[in-house]
Amino acid sequence: MTKIRLRPYHPTYIVANFGAGGAPETSRARKGFDGVNDKIKANPCAAEIEIVQCHDDVCEGCTRIFEQESGSVWGERKSCSSAEDPEIVASVNRINARMLKLFGLNFGDRIMLVELAEILSRKLPDIDDDLLGGTQRNEDYHKGLGKLLSYQQ
Ligand code: SF4
Repeated sequence: MTKIRLRPYHPTYIVANFGAGGAPETSRARKGFDGVNDKIKANPCAAEIEIVQCHDDVCEGCTRIFEQESGSVWGERKSCSSAEDPEIVASVNRINARMLKLFGLNFGDRIMLVELAEILSRKLPDIDDDLLGGTQRNEDYHKGLGKLLSYQQ
């Protein structure tokens, strides 16, 4: 089993990156996204996602995360530019709530990536929000969903 921690709004990016073979060069969290993509590529059927509220495996490779003794709204001893901006935090809370409802999951729940892809294909056939990666990623997203669904048994 390959365990991957993701915030609720990150799976659409993960799927699009899997479809494209990697994260866009312009992504500030490219290192984190590509690290997750490498784990998935090694064995897509073994990828288990834990849905978390705090900074996740993508954030660990983001250029905007930094150590902070007092922590932040998204975890202990770490913060980032987004965590320090109340408007961004409110937007992330909104999109997280939407995606949790769509997935039928809560923070702390675990689900296999191929099962999550199946839910996304039914309930979110197209990316429709910039916080989910933006509509410009739809071609990659559709490709990634198709690849992941091919692994379903
Ligand atoms: S800006 Fe913050 S929340 Fe966004 S990916 Fe980077 S570390 Fe994660």
